[in-house]
Amino acid sequence: MNYEEIFKTIPSHVTLVAVSKTKPVEDILAIYNKGQRVFGENKVQEMCDKQAQLPTDIQWHLIGHLQTNKVKYIAPFVTMIHAVDSLKLLQEINKQAQKNNRTIDCLLQFHIAEEETKFGLNKDEAIELLESSEFQELKNIQIRGVMGMATFTDNTSSIRKEFGALVDQFNYLKETYFSNQPSFDTRSMGMSGDYEIAIEEGSTMVRIGSLIFGTRMV
Ligand SMILES: *Cc1c(COP(=O)(O)O)cnc(C)c1O
Repeated sequence: MNYEEIFKTIPSHVTLVAVSKTKPVEDILAIYNKGQRVFGENKVQEMCDKQAQLPTDIQWHLIGHLQTNKVKYIAPFVTMIHAVDSLKLLQEINKQAQKNNRTIDCLLQFHIAEEETKFGLNKDEAIELLESSEFQELKNIQIRGVMGMATFTDNTSSIRKEFGALVDQFNYLKETYFSNQPSFDTRSMGMSGDYEIAIEEGSTMVRIGSLIFGTRMV
């Protein structure tokens, strides 16, 4: 599949994040020249190196786990941070955004897969974060929605169930904490192998790498 073919399968209300991790700037530029402006990376150093070499109208999304001590490197330019899973990280993003005189869009990462991983919030943890007085003080971040990754499996019904669970979390947070904030509108779910299911289940943002750029060596 090529970029145009994939792009055609994505409805206009869904944002395509082209995940360019491990791929050279030439490959990114080729997709950029076809009109793509939103790119996703999962490593801070790699994203900074590429950002410095590529057109300034690219919107960079950090989609991977982010360590607090690295926020300062991306704060001047990052458009969205997908994998926020602690108050501590959110406080650091707020602090660095403030230093750069900007507001940074963030998504709360939820743990929806069966697989054991230390990343991602559950519902109680999200509630605790959003109800904390420390959270209320943060003025330079904007929570735009949720992000999650389904189990890596061929079992489409379990993938569907996991995406459905993420949409349930989104709806709960929307009603409870963000009902008067239209900017809380993003459900980042779906990758190369499962983005069509994700869109059927209500994704508004898909993160597609290997299908666009080819398989990764690492
Ligand atoms: C690598 C990555 C993707 C894209 O994966 P593909 O299977 O290559 O589409 C999406 N989301 C996250 C968080 C990733 O790390």
